Amino acid sequence: MQTRKFGTNGPDVSVIGQGTWYLDHGDRKAAIAALRRGIETGMTHIDTAEMYGDAEPVIADAIAELPREMLFLVSKVLPSNASRRGTVTACERSLRRLKADYLNCYLLHWRGSYPLEETVAAFEELVASGKIRSWGVSNFDSDDLDELVDIAGEGKIACNQVLYHLQERAIEHAVVPWCERHGVAVVAYSPFGHNDFPSPRSKGGEMLQAIADAYKATPRQVALAFLTRTASVLAIPKASSAEHAAENARAGDLKLSEVEIAALDKAFPRGPKPRGLPML
Ligand code: NAP
Repeated sequence: MQTRKFGTNGPDVSVIGQGTWYLDHGDRKAAIAALRRGIETGMTHIDTAEMYGDAEPVIADAIAELPREMLFLVSKVLPSNASRRGTVTACERSLRRLKADYLNCYLLHWRGSYPLEETVAAFEELVASGKIRSWGVSNFDSDDLDELVDIAGEGKIACNQVLYHLQERAIEHAVVPWCERHGVAVVAYSPFGHNDFPSPRSKGGEMLQAIADAYKATPRQVALAFLTRTASVLAIPKASSAEHAAENARAGDLKLSEVEIAALDKAFPRGPKPRGLPML
């Protein structure tokens, strides 16, 4: 499993991690087995949020026997809770639900109506008290990031978690270059398009299969390798079975050639820059 730096001063984190949105909706035992297999195969970066129903308690059960230091746990505060006090309370609630002493990174889920100054002050308080090791944001466009860095200063924002998959490459226009200039990790969410992975019968699907065949890999592994082809990007697919988790983890060692990357770039064009940043 390759690793990537998580922010300027951050640790090395598995390039492929595990999403947990809707993980609490299916069979709980299978979800726990999926997370455990994922961790065993190197996907130690686990992404959750207070918004994701019972995902945090499911993670708590999956990681109960594991040394805390081997994991990179991320959770998120809802914008409606992201006041100075509300952020701290929400973080403490997530820690209780995860049965964890600290989070490796804590994110603002998307920009809401509380001033960023308040949320940043709460994040810094949480860092000082040891409840989080770092903080970041999600669904921030480059102009939001400009505002945020003016408030927080350089070197403070660990990551920006954004929508990124083969059929939605908008972040490549401005967000990825911004993050690279400022040493901020880009975390690709919904890397399989949530529930819209290219069909095997489509032109793009055939291309993914042909490249996969050359590596004895799968189209989803090729998709993850394409999305994480640059050093600033990590991805967090969600899987609810151990088989899917193991398949996804293997993408962490797959490196595509320049020719294959160019072919995929053509099959799934970036498209023009949209007016706003797309999000789910
Ligand atoms: P996703 O990871 O793009 O896709 C998940 C879907 O892919 C599920 O239906 C899953 O099925 C399937 N899948 C996974 N691995 C597979 C495999 N190897 N073979 C076949 N099917 C496979 O969707 P997502 O959950 O929207 O995004 C991932 C994570 O990003 C979320 O869970 C969440 O942690 C985060 N996220 C963040 C935001 C944000 O605003 N910050 C928004 C959306 C998502 P099974 O479940 O059956 O395995």
